[in-house]
Amino acid sequence: MRPAIIRKTAADLRVAPNSPLTWEEARRALAGLPGGGLNIAYEAVDRHAAGANASRVAIRWLPAAGAPRDFTFADLASLSSRFANVLRGFGIAKGDVVFVLCARIPELYAAVLGGLKLGAMVSPLFSAFGPEPIRTRVNLGRGKVLVTTELLYQRKIAKVEAGMPTLAHVMRVDGEEGRRLVAEASDRFEIERTDAETPALLHFTSGTTGTPKGAVHVHGAVVAHYATGRYALDLHPEDIFWCTADPGWVTGTSYGIVAPLVHGVTSIVDEAEFDTERWYRNLQDQRVTVWYTAPTAIRMLMKAGAEVARKYRFPELRFVASVGEPLNPEAVWWGKDVLGLPIHDNWWQTETGDIMIANTPAMDVKPGSMGKPLPGVEACIARRTDEGVKIVDLPGVEGELALRAGWPSMFRGYLDQEERYRKCFAGGLYFTGDLARRDADGYFWFVGRADDVIKSAGHLIGPFEVESALMEHPAVAEAGVIGKPDPVVGEVVKAFVSLRAGFEPSEKLRMELLGHARKRLGAAVAPKEIEFAPSLPRTRSGKIMRRLLKARELGLPEGDTSTLEGTA
Ligand code: ATP
Ligand code: MG
Repeated sequence: MRPAIIRKTAADLRVAPNSPLTWEEARRALAGLPGGGLNIAYEAVDRHAAGANASRVAIRWLPAAGAPRDFTFADLASLSSRFANVLRGFGIAKGDVVFVLCARIPELYAAVLGGLKLGAMVSPLFSAFGPEPIRTRVNLGRGKVLVTTELLYQRKIAKVEAGMPTLAHVMRVDGEEGRRLVAEASDRFEIERTDAETPALLHFTSGTTGTPKGAVHVHGAVVAHYATGRYALDLHPEDIFWCTADPGWVTGTSYGIVAPLVHGVTSIVDEAEFDTERWYRNLQDQRVTVWYTAPTAIRMLMKAGAEVARKYRFPELRFVASVGEPLNPEAVWWGKDVLGLPIHDNWWQTETGDIMIANTPAMDVKPGSMGKPLPGVEACIARRTDEGVKIVDLPGVEGELALRAGWPSMFRGYLDQEERYRKCFAGGLYFTGDLARRDADGYFWFVGRADDVIKSAGHLIGPFEVESALMEHPAVAEAGVIGKPDPVVGEVVKAFVSLRAGFEPSEKLRMELLGHARKRLGAAVAPKEIEFAPSLPRTRSGKIMRRLLKARELGLPEGDTSTLEGTA
């Protein structure tokens, strides 16, 4: 058995971790708009372009094929100003909604920042979405302009364009008109006066538990991006930072665009999708120092085997963090074994806008725990009862993870779902929909989404615990666990398992896994059934969709699958 805690050594801390700071201190570290107000794009680019960071590389872009291209803060400031001017030419004004549907190309970043400069609310959409999910989101957001490319236009927009009546214009950045407009536009733009409460970004949730919700975020969120970039991701000015998430998901905007730029740090942007060798090569050749990725990617690297990793060297890498799903202890240890660094799990949601609970560089890591609340974040385990909200103070007791409302990047609404938004709050707390417990040292442990928890013979079983136990077995690459209705015990635990390279499904292996799980978890919690699957259904952001495993198992309708990976 591995130890329960990874203690930090001097080797882990060869760069002294940043000290924590309060929201107020973070606010003071930002410049604010000249003349008053706050704007994310000003803090992210224009401020640097006007100062000592002007010629520092802001984005090193790795095209899917071809040589890397560098964009300095000055380049990004002028390109985003050009986009702001072009968008203004299309009639976009403060308060309008701009959708951006591009692969991870420089124009995506310029369009998002340009829209923010204009005071528009910007919604980056993942470019792999099919026409229907795009149409639904643009209509829900009443988008006025959609920024895209020729290819994506032909493939996805042309056939649904007539079904998006609010769109006044579709801009194709690499089309003849798009190129001309950008080239002719001025590279100067006076940022609209926005303040901390002006809507800035519209992000749709991943759709793991149902139809995606549109969460509205404000310019004031930049305070939290700054603070968490500094404290949870430990960004130092000389870092080379790589956030692997696409800006179509909140992680890819908060930490793939805003946080590193606000810190004046160089970011790697890779246009290509996941590829084991390419990713190791990026880490090595780009000399990445801080890497922010997701459990799904880590599990894929694990699946490919440690030999592939051994072909590469990562001497500059000093901090690795993960978000999006629970990070199994096995994955934390894999980091330690293969990268030489434990992986630091952190927890947050589209709704929270920034990292809330984290394993920070200075902390000892308890593999399987999502860490502790960041400074300024008040997290607790709570229950909503008919008599009101009860905070569960005892360590080890499960309940809903709740946060004291009012942090700077808190979402300000669900688009068109006022009632649903209101229902998230009670007794001054925001209820996250996730179940967790806190231990005596203040570390938080994810149990499962409220929707995924299994009720079996009077026990409440969190799928994460069962999945993590299965993953300890050398044959298991990933596992998804559901409750299957049972007349006697309510639900029985069923696991879907995909195997690592070199292992084949067999009756013998199934029995071995059942036995392994029973030994680790006890008969009450261990799965009664195991089914082998070549892969598990996941969202495009990489999360296992347990609701789909369950619907398929029970022959029920699959519900909203707009974010299901592999659909057109
Ligand atoms: P939807 O709300 O549409 O069902 P979603 O909740 O997956 O989708 P996101 O906002 O992208 O959409 O994901 C946030 C959720 O992801 C969290 O509420 C939590 O369930 C899960 N999550 C994120 N990070 C972690 C983590 N470190 N450990 C455990 N769960 C995590
Ligand atoms: Mg959610």
